[in-house]
Amino acid sequence: MIMIPMKVPKSVNTYCPKCREYTEHEIRLYRGGKRRNLAEGQRRYDRKNEGYGSTRKPIPKRFAKVTKKQLLLYRCKKCGYTITKRRGMRLKKLEISEVG
Ligand SMILES: [Zn+2]
Repeated sequence: MIMIPMKVPKSVNTYCPKCREYTEHEIRLYRGGKRRNLAEGQRRYDRKNEGYGSTRKPIPKRFAKVTKKQLLLYRCKKCGYTITKRRGMRLKKLEISEVG
């Protein structure tokens, strides 16, 4: 099977809640931040896993999902405001193309 990536234009005209009008937006793909070892949740998790006894959560043998949720960020070219609250979609491959 040939994998065809979903194509997304690099820029698109959409509503900017800050400018309160339709402006050109630049599209970028959201990437999650780096895991911090000293974050409260990580420290709690490590504390729980310390010592004898079972782990807090079962260790996954293999990852179940074949797709990833891709979230697009829309950055207004006029004011720089970024819209993050758009629904993500499950895709295997996504490509941000030059031409819309
Ligand atoms: Zn704007």
